[in-house]
Parts: sequence; structure tokens; C-alpha cells
Amino acid sequence: MSTELIQQVQQWGVVGAGGAGFPTHIKLQAEAKTVILNGAECEPLLHKDKELMKAYGREVLHGLELVRQSVGADEAIVGIKGKYTDVIDSMQALLPDKHRIAKLSDSYPAGDEFILVYDTTGKIIPPGGIPLHVGCVVVNVETAMNIARGKPVTRKYLTVAGAVANPVTIGIPIGATFAEAIELAGGATVDDPVVLVGGAMMGKYSEDLTTPITKTTGGLIVLGRDHPLVARYTKSWKQVQTIGASGCDQCYFCTFYCPRYLLGHPIQPHLAMRSLQFNMAGEVNVNHSQFCCECNLCTMMACPEDLYPAQVCIENKHRILDSGERWKVDAEEDRPAMHLDNRRVPIPRLILKLGLSRFTNKGPLLDNGFAPSRAVLPLKQHAGGPAGAMVKVGDRVKVGDVIAQPAEGKLGAVIHASIDGKITEVSDKVIIEA
Ligand code: SF4
Ligand code: SF4
Repeated sequence: MSTELIQQVQQWGVVGAGGAGFPTHIKLQAEAKTVILNGAECEPLLHKDKELMKAYGREVLHGLELVRQSVGADEAIVGIKGKYTDVIDSMQALLPDKHRIAKLSDSYPAGDEFILVYDTTGKIIPPGGIPLHVGCVVVNVETAMNIARGKPVTRKYLTVAGAVANPVTIGIPIGATFAEAIELAGGATVDDPVVLVGGAMMGKYSEDLTTPITKTTGGLIVLGRDHPLVARYTKSWKQVQTIGASGCDQCYFCTFYCPRYLLGHPIQPHLAMRSLQFNMAGEVNVNHSQFCCECNLCTMMACPEDLYPAQVCIENKHRILDSGERWKVDAEEDRPAMHLDNRRVPIPRLILKLGLSRFTNKGPLLDNGFAPSRAVLPLKQHAGGPAGAMVKVGDRVKVGDVIAQPAEGKLGAVIHASIDGKITEVSDKVIIEA
């Protein structure tokens, strides 16, 4: 373990760039046998990881090697979709010792950590566990690149796709708005656009295009309000519950498709749906919903009745977690995967089912140094508590200056100025005007 690297990564504010924003310096303190680069990128229409590996492969691999050394791993595995032969060829030519490439299927959810670990090592993470339970650390492509760049994280890479003139993968200062990102993609091609932030499968619905891009904004899918996905994303819990209780015929398809069930985990979403009949959503011992990875496959792909088993599982999961109930992780238990290989959902089929096939499925990189005139930097854009502001209104800052940091000993990440300018607001966010 390199204490110096861990301290630097902490000071640079590096977090997991694709998910909850877990601080990377904590991950680097682990001991593991295998490090896996997650280049699976299975959200339809998103291309950021592929584009970064293509343009900045050397940096990505250097960052991966630094992680491998830090956790003392014997090997590093680069997970890339097998269909990206050009990226595989260019990465292969740069591959350091102790690294190998694993070709992944073009299926969903290949980027789920549990599926990625299984596909690259054959190991099954136990229910409620993390990759470390089977000796693995998983690192995001952009995160590896940020480690290699060796400077404060002030830019974010994301694909802007869907109803835009030129779908593109952009590099943009953190704190710029969704609207500015959409303009870099040539602007929306629909009146009154909305976005799915992070992807069409696991994204969050937003109508507010003034929302700032953060360290974890993985992509923007721009849609018109009449797109069927908007109706799917805007159902209330009450509607989900009522429709589910009356419409579920217990056909089992949601369970047949569930990637965690297929890994041998005890989750069965059709049981979560059945519990709605008895008003038992949230009963701790009903259905093992806590093992749901929220991939949304059961809702978006499996259910022939267009019901919401994923949302029922997610609601149950949060109630179970709120109740304090925890699962004892048994890393030794033998859990064979079942039928996973012949029940993978191909991305082209998913794109068709989601009503996205009319959109361009490409996102070439545009890293043109665009700088907004204003940056809005939320003090919480990572796992853990919000960072505490280190600046006050009227201060002048330059790109890379520390503007907020977590309290001593608390989980969180340092936040830096992403543009040069003057601080005009300090609240639950810091605003910089150029
Ligand atoms: S969202 Fe559905 S398919 Fe995905 S893990 Fe949860 S229950 Fe399984
Ligand atoms: S797939 Fe749909 S109808 Fe079938 S059991 Fe699951 S929720 Fe019910």
C-alpha cells in the first residue's frame, strides 16, 4: 500500500466516477488479489468509457496499474466489450505486465460489479457482499484516468445522447449545467426536453436543465416529454403499488431475468410483487429485496404487463435497510450461477424495447476545453457527508483550488474550483462566477 498515493488521491478528490461516488482513497487501502477495470458500460447509448479508453488508454492503464500496486494485486483485468475490437487492439498494445484483457458480452447489466466479477474471474460475490469478499477491487475507467492524471478532479466526462443534434461524449468542468452539456451536443431536437441522468435503465428523471454536472454524472439521455420512458419514470409509489397488486399474474418472468437471482442470490422479485397483495411491502423476511442491485431489468425488459417489480424491490430494500436488518455475508457458501449465460439481455434488444432505436448509438469524444461562465458545485457529490466549505463570498479562486473538504476522519471527498472566478454563494453549494 502506498501511503503517499492514497493521500494524494484523497487530496485530488477522486471518487468513483460512475456510481455513488465512493471515495477512491478508501478503496486503495484494501488488500486484493485482482483489480478489475470496469469498461463494460452497459447503459444503452452511453459511450464514455469506450471513448476514454480509445483517447486516453495510456492514462487509464497507468491509473489501473497504480491501483494494482496499491492493493498488492497479482493481476489487473481490463473488462471491455468484445465488440470494441479497435479499443481492444489499442489497449492490448499498451498493456503492462500482469494485466490482461477480458472480452465482455454486449449485454445488460454487464457493468454491474457482481456480473463483471463473475464474467472476468468466475467468482460469485456473496449476497450482501462486495468485490473484496472474493479478493477483487473494481475501478471505473474515468476513476483510473483521474488517478493517473495526478491533479484535482475538476472535469467530468459524460455522453449526451437521445434527442440531441449530435450525440457526443464531452469533457466539461464540474458545475456546468445540463443545458450547457446539451448545447455541446448540438442542442435538443425536441421542444421542452427532459433528461434521464445516468442512463435509461438506472438513471434519475430530471426536468431541471439548470442542474449542475457533478463528479458522478455518468451521462444524459435527452427525451421529449411524450417519450414512453418518461411515463415509466414518473409513476408514483402509490401507482406502482396499486397497478402491481391488481396486474401481476405471478408469471415469474421478472425472477427469470433477474441477474442477481441468476447468480444464485436469494432475491425473487415476483415474491416482492406477490407481497403487494397482502400489503406486505417492506416486511423484512418476505423476499430478500435487499439484494436487488436496482438494475431495473425486471421492470424495463422482463415484465410482460409493464409493471414495476424493480421499484417494489427497491422500496422494500430501503425499508429493510431503514429497519436496521442486515444480512450476514457468508463468503464461503457455494452458490452456483444458474442459466446466466443463456438469459443475458442483448443491448440491441434492450434499445428496441426502451424505444431508443431511433437515436444514434454513437458518442465520439469532444474534449474541447469548454468553460462555463458559472460553476455550481454541490458540497455533497460523493458517498458520505457533505464537505465543509473552505471559502467565503468574495474570495477569488483558480481552477484546482480547494473550496471544500470533509470533516477530519469523516467519509467524503475534497472539492475543488472547476473554473477561475469569484465566489458568489456559499450554502449547500459553492457558486463561482468567472
Ligand atoms: S432491479 Fe429487478 S432484475 Fe434488477 S436486481 Fe433488482 S429485482 Fe433483480
Ligand atoms: S414479470 Fe410482471 S407479471 Fe410476471 S411476476 Fe413479475 S411483475 Fe408479475
